[in-house]
Amino acid sequence: MKIKSPPKANILIVENQIESLKLLSRILEEESYQVRQAIDGEMALIAVETEIPDLILLSVDLDKLDGYHVCKELKQKEKTADIPIIFLSDFDDFEKKIKALELGGIDYIIKPYQQKELLVRIKNYLDIRLKIENIRDSNKNLEKKLKLTQVSEQFQKQVPLESHLLYQAIAATNNSIIITDATTADYPITYVNPGFEIMTGYSFEEVAGKNCRFLQGNDRQQPQLEEIRHCLQQGQSCNVTLRNYRKDGSLFWNEMSLSPIKDESENIIYYIGVQTDVTDKKRANEQQQRYEASLQKMNRELYELNRKLYRLANMDGLTEVANRRCFDETLEQEWQRLNREKKPLSLILGDIDYFKRYNDKYGHLGGDDCLKRVAAILAQSTFRPADLVARYGGEEFAIILPDTPHEGAKEVARRILDSLRESRIPHKASDVKPYVTMSLGLGTITPSLDIEIKSFLDQIDDALYKAKKQGRDRLKTVCL
Ligand code: GH3
Ligand code: MG
Ligand code: MG
Repeated sequence: MKIKSPPKANILIVENQIESLKLLSRILEEESYQVRQAIDGEMALIAVETEIPDLILLSVDLDKLDGYHVCKELKQKEKTADIPIIFLSDFDDFEKKIKALELGGIDYIIKPYQQKELLVRIKNYLDIRLKIENIRDSNKNLEKKLKLTQVSEQFQKQVPLESHLLYQAIAATNNSIIITDATTADYPITYVNPGFEIMTGYSFEEVAGKNCRFLQGNDRQQPQLEEIRHCLQQGQSCNVTLRNYRKDGSLFWNEMSLSPIKDESENIIYYIGVQTDVTDKKRANEQQQRYEASLQKMNRELYELNRKLYRLANMDGLTEVANRRCFDETLEQEWQRLNREKKPLSLILGDIDYFKRYNDKYGHLGGDDCLKRVAAILAQSTFRPADLVARYGGEEFAIILPDTPHEGAKEVARRILDSLRESRIPHKASDVKPYVTMSLGLGTITPSLDIEIKSFLDQIDDALYKAKKQGRDRLKTVCL
C-alpha cells in the first residue's frame, strides 16, 4: 500500500496563557507546521469549523468553555470526531488525565513539557492519523471494488433471468414459432411455441420430430416451396407466403420468415421459422382486387355510356353524322381558331334534289334510307380528321373543312358529286337524273370576328340556291 507522504500538518493550539501559546507556536512553526491559535474554548470551536486541523493541542483550563467541553463537542460531530487531540495541563492529576483520555483525547501532557518529547509525540500522532487516512482511502477503494463485484454478480444472475424473459416472450407472441434441427436429415421439428399450437391446432407432441411439410397437406404444387428448398440448400434466409392447412383441414395463408441459426463455427444447427396467419389480410386483398375490378368495369361502362351520351348529344340519330348542334358548336370554335391562325375555312352546304318527290315515290322509310346512304357517301368523301360532316336539317347536309383553301374545298365538293353519281341511288321521280343527285353551295373565308358566321352561311346558301336554279346536280361557289 502506498502511504501518503506527510503534508505540512495544520495544528491548532488552544491556550489561554499567551506566553505559553506564543512559545508553542514558535516551536511548531520552526518544525514547518502550519499553526493556528485560539485563546479560549469558543474560539477553538470556531477555528475548527473554519478549517479542520490535523491535530489540536488543547489546554484543559480555558476561559468560557474548558478543554474537556471543547473535546466533547468535537468528538460528537462526525466531521471533527477523528481529529487527534492532545491535552495540555498544568496538573499531574490522575482523575483529570483519565477524564481527558475517556473523552477521546489521545494524550495528556503535563506542563512544562519536554520540547523534544512533545514534537516526537506530535509527529507520531500525525503519522498515525495519516496512516488511518490511508487505510480509509484504501477501504473506500475496496468498497468500490466490492460494489463492482456485486453489480457483476447481479448481471450474471440476470442472464438466466433474460433467457427466462425470452422464453416468456416466445410463448406470449401470437406469431407461430417453429425451430427445426438442421443437423438431422429432413429438418425435424424440435420446438414449437404456443402460438403455433393456436394457429395450426397441432400440439407440440403431435408435431415433434416431423418435417414441416405436413402443414401443406396435399397442396404441394406451390412455387414458394421451391424457394424454401433453395434457401435451405444455400443456408440462407427467406420470406414466403404459403397455403397451409390446420389440423381441422381448414386453409390458412402462412407468411413465413425462415432463418438459419449458426453455432460458433458458423455451422447451421437450427432453422427458425416465424409465421403469421395472413388469411384475413389475403382475403381483404382479394376483396380489394375484386372491388377494384368491378370499379374498373364500372369505369369502362361509364366511359362507354359517356361516349354514347356524347354521340347522342352530338350525332344525328338517323344518319349517324354530326347533328346540327354539333355543327353549330364546331363552326363557332373553328371560326375563332382560324381567325387566330389567319387560315381559311371552307364550308359546303348540300341539298338533295327533288327529295320531296323521292319520299313520295319510295315512301318515308325509303327516304330515311336514302338520307343514310347520302350521309355515308359524304363522310367517305372527306379525309381529314378535322373535317366535319353534319346533318344541317331535313335533307340538307353541311361539311366544315377547316384550314382548307377554296381550291381544296372545290375538290371535296366535286368528289361528293361524283361519288353520288357513281352510287346511282335510284330516283325515278327526279327531273335531273334517274338517280339521286345533290346541289352544293361552297364558300371559303378567312374568318374574322368582325364578320358574322350567319352572313357567311347565308352567302353559301345563296350559292346553293343558284345551283338549284341553274339545273341542280351541281356546285356553285363563293369566295369571300
Ligand atoms: P329541291 O330539289 O328544290 O331541294 O326539292 P326538294 O323536294 O328536295 O325540297 P323541298 O324542301 O321541297 O323538300 C324537302 C323534303 O325533304 C321535305 C321532306 O319530305 C323531306 N325530308 C326532310 N327531312 C326528312 C327526313 O328526315 N326523312 C325523310 N324521309 N324525308 C325528309
Ligand atoms: Mg331542302
Ligand atoms: Mg331538296
